[in-house]
Amino acid sequence: MNTTTVIVGSSIGGVRTAQSLRLEGYEGEIILVGEDPELPYDKPPLSKSVLAGKVEESSICLLTREQADDARIQLLLGRRATGLDIAQNLLKLDGHDPLRYDNLVIATGASARPSPWGHRPGIHVLRSLEDARKLRANLFKGGELAVIGAGFIGAEAAATARSLGLEVTVIDPLPIPMSRIFNPEIGHWFGDLHRNNGVKTIFGTGVEAIEGEQGDFVIHLTNGQQVPAATVLVGIGAVPNDAWLGSSGLLVDNGVVLDEYCRAVDAPNVYGVGDVARWRHQKHGEDIRIEHWTNAVEQAACVAYNITHPESPREYTPVEYVWSDQHDWKIQVVGRVGGNSEHVIIGHPEIHGKFAALYTSDGVNLRGAAIVNWPKALLACRRGMGTGIAMQELREHLESLLNPQPTVAR
Ligand SMILES: Cc1cc2nc3c(=O)[nH]c(=O)nc-3n(C[C@H](O)[C@H](O)[C@H](O)COP(=O)(O)OP(=O)(O)OC[C@H]3O[C@@H](n4cnc5c(N)ncnc54)[C@H](O)[C@@H]3O)c2cc1C
Repeated sequence: MNTTTVIVGSSIGGVRTAQSLRLEGYEGEIILVGEDPELPYDKPPLSKSVLAGKVEESSICLLTREQADDARIQLLLGRRATGLDIAQNLLKLDGHDPLRYDNLVIATGASARPSPWGHRPGIHVLRSLEDARKLRANLFKGGELAVIGAGFIGAEAAATARSLGLEVTVIDPLPIPMSRIFNPEIGHWFGDLHRNNGVKTIFGTGVEAIEGEQGDFVIHLTNGQQVPAATVLVGIGAVPNDAWLGSSGLLVDNGVVLDEYCRAVDAPNVYGVGDVARWRHQKHGEDIRIEHWTNAVEQAACVAYNITHPESPREYTPVEYVWSDQHDWKIQVVGRVGGNSEHVIIGHPEIHGKFAALYTSDGVNLRGAAIVNWPKALLACRRGMGTGIAMQELREHLESLLNPQPTVAR
């Protein structure tokens, strides 16, 4: 009997679920529903090459109409899911008849946290292609850009704007940005990276209000300082798109809550993928939600497998991975870093032009690593995470890569 799988959310998590289902040999109907009217597109370039206007928008397309037809994926774009009836297996849509499903995959991702200082023209967030177009149009007019929030997206957009020759100021309430993700020493290096590339940084101060209008804003800081800006980007994080599940009866708590097989805890034919999914990571022994591209891809593959192999589902226990590009730094993070874990740093950005920070929570085993501009170290850390290498062994290996012993001629 043919079944129907409906996937809600037409970005990387949703598209990869649909494609992975076909790779797993799923023969049923696949319907991919998305609120965004655009053909599915990839998000990481929105703060990098797309924002800089260096690539055609078509280069970030994740699924063309032809590819969808070839894979027998029915695309329903420009349709917003408004609710779910898990007793009747019905997905409710805004202004359209509900869709019946046998399996449902929730891949509705996250939205930019709204600006607490208003949303008038010239004050931007950056999540969708349309957001990137609007911000790019304003950057191309010139004038100073103020970025509120020194997280990954704010920092990448600041670096991109500098590459376009704009004056840029980054404001963050943390005295040392990125210090919570990594640690204070590396946080300082991030600050230096941006300042060395001409970004003005104002850290340890909040924003009270934004006055003025597009082209002529004044940002009032909590320390009394005023920052002029033509354009403002508010990059203060993201919130999962789970409000539409409010009356569904599914457990929703900072994302849709899933078991170790990525199935909704109250409805085994409902799965979750990507930024909206909070699942039980058995190796970590806790429920986690990850807002990273690679997680959406790997979780989509796992969910597709579990839909097609319901009798032998796989636990989803990934090693986390995220990258970020800022100025000439390629930052790559594997596993879990920061928090209360101890760390050692091998290399130095100014001396070696690269470094790796290794983290452990028990003083022995590697928990995660942050690597900058050092592909060989990334490879070693990824292998080490897979095999469970002791941190000391990996440290010695990386030190030997950094300072190779001269070969002695015989
Ligand atoms: C600017 C930017 C740069 C990034 N850079 C990096 C990077 O360098 N490295 C990295 O690892 N990660 C990066 N990320 C994060 C990465 O892109 C996300 O983790 C990834 O997009 C998550 O995919 P997703 O499919 O789960 O959710 P999303 O990409 O958020 O997609 C969810 C989709 O669901 C749709 N939707 C939402 N609600 C509904 C509804 N009710 N009905 C129908 N459709 C709905 C949305 O319109 C959207 O199309 C970046 C993100 C952004 C925004």
